[in-house]
Amino acid sequence: MAHPHLWHPFTQAKTAPDPLKVKSGQGAWLTLEDGQQILDCISSWWVNIHGHAHPRIAEAIYQQAQVLEQVIFAGFTHDPAEQIATRLVKYLPGALSRVFFSDNGSTAVEVALKMAYQYWHNQRQHRPQFLAFTGAYHGDTFGAMAVGARSPFTAAFDDLLFQVEFAPFPATYWGDETVEQKEAQAIAQIAAKLATGSFAAIILEPLVQGAGGMRMCRPQFLQQLQAIARQSDTLLIFDEVMTGFGRTGDWFACTRAAVEPDLICLSKGLTGGFLPLAVTVCSEKIYAAFYSDEAQKALYHGHSFTANPLGCAAALASLDLLIETEAAFRGLEAQHQRRLVHLADNPQIERIRCTGAIAAMDLVTAGDPGYFNQIGAQIRQRSLSKGLLLRPLGNVLYLLLPYCITEAELDLIYSGIDEILASLPSV
Ligand SMILES: *Cc1c(COP(=O)(O)O)cnc(C)c1O
Repeated sequence: MAHPHLWHPFTQAKTAPDPLKVKSGQGAWLTLEDGQQILDCISSWWVNIHGHAHPRIAEAIYQQAQVLEQVIFAGFTHDPAEQIATRLVKYLPGALSRVFFSDNGSTAVEVALKMAYQYWHNQRQHRPQFLAFTGAYHGDTFGAMAVGARSPFTAAFDDLLFQVEFAPFPATYWGDETVEQKEAQAIAQIAAKLATGSFAAIILEPLVQGAGGMRMCRPQFLQQLQAIARQSDTLLIFDEVMTGFGRTGDWFACTRAAVEPDLICLSKGLTGGFLPLAVTVCSEKIYAAFYSDEAQKALYHGHSFTANPLGCAAALASLDLLIETEAAFRGLEAQHQRRLVHLADNPQIERIRCTGAIAAMDLVTAGDPGYFNQIGAQIRQRSLSKGLLLRPLGNVLYLLLPYCITEAELDLIYSGIDEILASLPSV
């Protein structure tokens, strides 16, 4: 039964099935109130990189809660925040060296946009525009919506969103023969826009666009993008809220692609899915534009829970686990690939793609392939009855697995997908 006083996210309550009540979680599994077990194939909205209720992270939060649960972060600092900053900077590439905390992916993006914009403002340069990509998703607050693709989700607010230039995202997949052409066209378009000198920054989800349909691009494209951004002195923002912390088979998408952004946004996997926490990390060059005798040049942004010590403690424990499971997150892509080849001949699917822990495919469908395509809801229901948590994005079926997943669980997931596909009415 739906609760009379709850309002769920991304849900049309009138037509949606009642929410399932979850009692507990362990590893990749969730246990419902009625005892049914469900294998969480999407890391609960992409956050639980180590699976559920990992005792090491739970213990770290418990220990921290007894010492310091929260403190104002203006004028004060604390060990957990300093430690996480030191350690993150070690794993991040190049010049990324200043860590600013916030609460979630959307706020990490807001902070990056404000840093980039004010960076130019502080230097009395007029750079009024942002460049983003078709199919992008950067969060649900207004700035994040503005740099995301216009969609049914933003439609009610489109008049309020600041104007952004969108470039095509050269999405690719197995057997794609046009990828180089798509990349060249995108780069040419972007170079022409950047030549105007009016862009503060480019923002994108590197290697994998998440909510826009698990659309993947090649590292080569990101390398070319970096080159033209540098040429025109435009800042490069990587929104790695989803791709960070092992998701792409390396520590970050930027390290996998060997590209060094000027700013990076991290959240989802940061605390292993235990607590809401985010960081925006920028280069010393950006920080220097705010460091001044003039009060006006400071970044006047902050949140009540900035650098919450419990979140930082969870993040430290999650980082330890990530180091220990490096072989697992590096190995997932090959584990997916071995199973995906068997799906390649199935005429019900097309555009198979895989990066690290993320595997995706498009279901061939008669209707409009967008988010509201009914096939998504059908698959969601059928997968639940098979004990799998899958949540297709429209006609895009994807897996985004925790690193504790076993070979046996992977077999279970892929045979479940086979059965679900076989049970669908033919197009
Ligand atoms: C989920 C997501 C966000 C927004 O994060 P929230 O924590 O939901 O606000 C931003 N960018 C990307 C790439 C995401 O996947």
